Amino acid sequence: MDNCLFCKIVRGEIPSRKVYEDDLVYAFHDINPLRPVHLLVIPKRHIASLADVSAADEPVLGRVLAVAHRLARENGSPDGCRVIINSERIGGQEVPHLHAHVVGGPEPVGLMLKRN
Ligand code: AMP
Ligand code: ZN
Repeated sequence: MDNCLFCKIVRGEIPSRKVYEDDLVYAFHDINPLRPVHLLVIPKRHIASLADVSAADEPVLGRVLAVAHRLARENGSPDGCRVIINSERIGGQEVPHLHAHVVGGPEPVGLMLKRN
């Protein structure tokens, strides 16, 4: 995707603070961290959201989850983390390239959601 922000990050056209990369996924620090540790793990190949996932994407989705905990631990969240995927309008997704937020730090991240 020529004009996708996170595709540009994967290609190195926009700078990022990379923490990990392999054949399927790319991980970097969120530019506006909401907790002391706030990473984004993304498929290298453009997938807009969970709504656009096909059976062929299952390996990359598995990899996103498989690396999340270790990346959190290596980057300052020693005792766990929370993984969040916002999807489309109801989920509050702002960047239309599928990404998992990996949040943590030295202290628990708190309530999963605030009540409306
Ligand atoms: P979401 O609302 O789930 O789409 O989250 C998008 C996330 O991308 C937000 O947490 C932003 O702070 C983050 N973000 C936006 N632009 C960049 C960027 N250039 N580098 C790193 N993170 C970014
Ligand atoms: Zn993209």
